[in-house]
Amino acid sequence: MLSFYDPQRKVVHELKKSNKMEASNVAQVKYYLWLLEEHGVAGPTAILEYPKLRQTQTVELSDEDRARIPEELAALRALLADGTACPPVINKPFCQQCAYYEFCYVAE
Ligand code: SF4
Repeated sequence: MLSFYDPQRKVVHELKKSNKMEASNVAQVKYYLWLLEEHGVAGPTAILEYPKLRQTQTVELSDEDRARIPEELAALRALLADGTACPPVINKPFCQQCAYYEFCYVAE
């Protein structure tokens, strides 16, 4: 989910509470930028904000991203359509801290 989108400047602001900068955060906002472009927004950018680190990181889409993201989405859709792609839920205490918790336990 977007933290905040400034439509005037076409800037996505994504706040991260983590105390480290991770490639997955960049990938997340690149997906948002790609979606915005798919909906007709030209040249959006993103700013990842890390208050604990007192740092920000500006993210833009490259042509390589524009080619790669739809390929990855197609591969992901194929995996999901397979129906056997997801491993079983392991039901451990640390599941409650996992980013996928809601996906794994949505039916319970
Ligand atoms: S919540 Fe996370 S750790 Fe637990 S089963 Fe799902 S993916 Fe695995």
